[in-house]
Amino acid sequence: MAHYDLLVIGTGPAGQKAAVQAAKLGKHVGIIERKEMVGGVCIHTGTIPSKSLREAVLARMETVNESSETQAEEDMTATEVRGDSDPSGL
Ligand SMILES: Cc1cc2nc3c(=O)[nH]c(=O)nc-3n(C[C@H](O)[C@H](O)[C@H](O)COP(=O)(O)OP(=O)(O)OC[C@H]3O[C@@H](n4cnc5c(N)ncnc54)[C@H](O)[C@@H]3O)c2cc1C
Repeated sequence: MAHYDLLVIGTGPAGQKAAVQAAKLGKHVGIIERKEMVGGVCIHTGTIPSKSLREAVLARMETVNESSETQAEEDMTATEVRGDSDPSGL
């Protein structure tokens, strides 16, 4: 039968740090996780996914803004070529 000095329940940041710290001190550590993958909220549903979503939205907004700026520049050039004084066409 396996012997452990410490059993850590949960593998989020708290459990991870506890397990790593105890292992550094030479303890034989076991971890218990109810989910299929270790990492907790931070890795799977909270911090990292929310930051990834935020970065993806910001990158998309930047692309959309750049493309509307380009479109506005193209519209302006077309107006200048046609010699229209009023870009609204009125
Ligand atoms: C959307 C969102 C964004 C966030 N953004 C940030 C951020 O930018 N910066 C920041 O510092 N923090 C952020 N957080 C908070 C951060 O994710 C949590 O503070 C951190 O995950 C808490 O770690 P923990 O180890 O205490 O718990 P958890 O990460 O919840 O881990 C607990 C683990 O224990 C397991 N467990 C629970 N009960 C049992 C059981 N009975 N048996 C076996 N396993 C069990 C769970 O399955 C889980 O894996 C965010 C949270 C969310 C939801």
